[in-house]
Amino acid sequence: MDFDVIVIGGGPSGLMAAIQAAEKNKKVLLVEKGPKLGRKLILSGGGRCNVTNRLPVEEIIRHVPGNGRFLYSAFHQFDNEDIILFFEKLGVALKEEDHGRMFPVSNSARSVADAMVARMEKLGVTVYMKTPVKSVLYENGQVRGIELADGQIKQAYSVIVAVGGKSVPRTGSTGDGYKFAMDAGHTITELYPTEVPITSLEPFITKRILQGISLRDVSLSVLGKKNKVVVTHRMDMIFTHFGISGPAALRCSMFVNQVLRKQELVWMELDLFPDESAGEVQKNVVQLLEENPKKAIKNALSPLLQEKLLLFLLEKAEINPENHYKQESPKKWEAFAALLKKLCFYCEWHA
Ligand SMILES: Cc1cc2nc3c(=O)[nH]c(=O)nc-3n(C[C@H](O)[C@H](O)[C@H](O)COP(=O)(O)OP(=O)(O)OC[C@H]3O[C@@H](n4cnc5c(N)ncnc54)[C@H](O)[C@@H]3O)c2cc1C
Repeated sequence: MDFDVIVIGGGPSGLMAAIQAAEKNKKVLLVEKGPKLGRKLILSGGGRCNVTNRLPVEEIIRHVPGNGRFLYSAFHQFDNEDIILFFEKLGVALKEEDHGRMFPVSNSARSVADAMVARMEKLGVTVYMKTPVKSVLYENGQVRGIELADGQIKQAYSVIVAVGGKSVPRTGSTGDGYKFAMDAGHTITELYPTEVPITSLEPFITKRILQGISLRDVSLSVLGKKNKVVVTHRMDMIFTHFGISGPAALRCSMFVNQVLRKQELVWMELDLFPDESAGEVQKNVVQLLEENPKKAIKNALSPLLQEKLLLFLLEKAEINPENHYKQESPKKWEAFAALLKKLCFYCEWHA
């Protein structure tokens, strides 16, 4: 045999697998088809890499879309606290942010990738770069090695397939693993995206009116049949040139997909002030306006929202931002306050 273990793929899973095998004194080969290791990892978490989450395992499983319970056995062997320890041992100190999210103190996803690559090199793992694997080889029902795209064969007692899924294929994950799994006799279920940004053809999105506006601690809901709330996530989000992104949007994306299987569009609802009732929001708006009766509405309400968003919502409520408070009817103020609690827009998938 050429190696004890061959790892296919140099993303975080492959790097981690190679390190673990080499720590157990195995002779390891890692084969990566791209020119760099950890390309997707470097992009992750907006370039900061949300390494793991410190909430209790039950809580994490509750947030996994679909059947999260299948993760119990994996977590039993290696859970979020083990990940934190793993990176601390590599010299990557982590810090906790909102909702238990753990990031490197360096705020750099690259530092996470670099630490893993350095450890792998120190352990003497052989690495082939720019080397696509064509197939996994079997003999008498047992794995025997791999065939590279150029026809070379490398033998091993174990092969670990860590080639990622299908998202962001420019980072190397082009779905080769599904073929490897099918060759091994597995059935592939229908594939769908999750934890992805969501696109919208709403005119305010296509005209990029709110592009770049980021919102802290808002409630984003996915609406299903008869406008029933399917799920709500209270986190940060951002309006982009194609739709919405940020933690709240990513968490909602799986549920958007579920609804889209039954209908062409999915409606979403944004609550900008989730801690206040509709009545309280309206009271606060009126109070701001009454405290500043001579100011133009857009200035009187400036403490409430970022200017672009404020102007957008005033226009939606048909309120002239240059007017003074009393020049607009109470009905319009009611409509404006309602928008702050319930801004509805439709979405489709990110192609
Ligand atoms: C924008 C973005 C932000 C994200 N943010 C986070 C985050 O903050 N926190 C988080 O936990 N997750 C995040 N993720 C998800 C995370 O990046 C992935 O879950 C993770 O990269 C998967 O790791 P992997 O090793 O399984 O696969 P990948 O990272 O996709 O790596 C697979 C590797 O296998 C190689 N490969 C593929 N086919 C072959 C072949 N035939 N032969 C040889 N090599 C092959 C590829 O070139 C690639 O290098 C984010 C993803 C994206 C796109």
